[in-house]
Amino acid sequence: VTVAPLAPMPESGLAEAGAMLSIEDITATEEAEAMRRDFVANVSHELRTPLTALIGFVETLRGAAKDDPVARERFLSIMAREAGRMNRLVGDLLSLSRVEAEERQRPRATVDISAVLRGAMQTLQPVAEAAQVRLLRSGETGALPVVGDPDQLTQVFSNLIENAVKYGGSGGEVTVHVEALAHEPVSRGPALKVAVIDRGEGIEALHLPRLTERFYRVDTHRSREQGGTGLGLAIVKHIVARHRGRLKIESEKGKGSTFSVILPRG
Ligand code: ADP
Repeated sequence: VTVAPLAPMPESGLAEAGAMLSIEDITATEEAEAMRRDFVANVSHELRTPLTALIGFVETLRGAAKDDPVARERFLSIMAREAGRMNRLVGDLLSLSRVEAEERQRPRATVDISAVLRGAMQTLQPVAEAAQVRLLRSGETGALPVVGDPDQLTQVFSNLIENAVKYGGSGGEVTVHVEALAHEPVSRGPALKVAVIDRGEGIEALHLPRLTERFYRVDTHRSREQGGTGLGLAIVKHIVARHRGRLKIESEKGKGSTFSVILPRG
C-alpha cells in the first residue's frame, strides 16, 4: 500500500479523512484483484484437467488403440464425458457472470413458485430415477406467486434438487417442502420458504460457511465423479441475493441436509 505520509495539519481534518479513504480503497482494490487472480487460476485448472485427458486420449487413439475397436469405444466414451464436463463448466461460468451482472437489478415478473418447482422436478425426474431416488413434494401446493425471474428461480431449485439427488444417497428420498410464512423477520413481511430435504451423507459443520464459494467442494473427487462443476451453490447464492431472499443450510454428517430458500413476497 503506497500512501504519501501525512504531515500533521491540525486545521485540515478533511485531508486526513481523504488519506484514510485512499488506504481503504487500495486495500479493497488489492483484495478484489487477488480474488480475480484466484478465480482465473481456478478456472484454468478446472478446464485444464479435462483438456489434458482429451489430448492424451487423442494421442492414444492415433497410436496404441488405433486398431483395437473395443479400446477405441472405451476411450471415445471417456472423451465424450470429459468434453461434457468442459461444456457444463463453461455453461455454469456464463450463468454465474450473467447472474452477477444482473444482481443489482430487481426482477419484475410474477412467478408461480409451484409451477417453477413442478418444472424443475419434472426435468430432474430421469436423474432421480437413475439414482433410484424418489422425488416428493409436501406442504403448500396451490399457486404461490412471488416477484422474480422465472428462469433464474428454476435454476436455483434445479441446482438444489440435483445436489440433493447426487449427494442424497441412492435408494433414498428427496422432499421439496413449501411453507408460506406470514411474517419473516429478516425481510419483515410475508415470505415463502422452499426447503429441499435429503437424508444423505450430510455435511460437517466446518464446511457450511464456505459451501457457496466458487469451486468449494467438500470432496473434490466425489464432486467430479458426479459431474459437478463446483459452481452450483455460488450461482444459487447470487440469484437468491438478487431476489432479496436468504439461503439457509442445515446439515448433519451422516443424517442429511436441508437447503432452504426464503423469498419475500411482495
Ligand atoms: P458441485 O458441482 O460440486 O455439486 P455445488 O456448488 O453445487 O458444486 O456444491 C458444492 C459442494 O457442496 C459439493 O461439492 C458438495 O460437497 C456439497 N453439497 C452440496 N449439496 C449437498 C447435499 N445436498 N448433501 C451433501 N453435500 C452437498
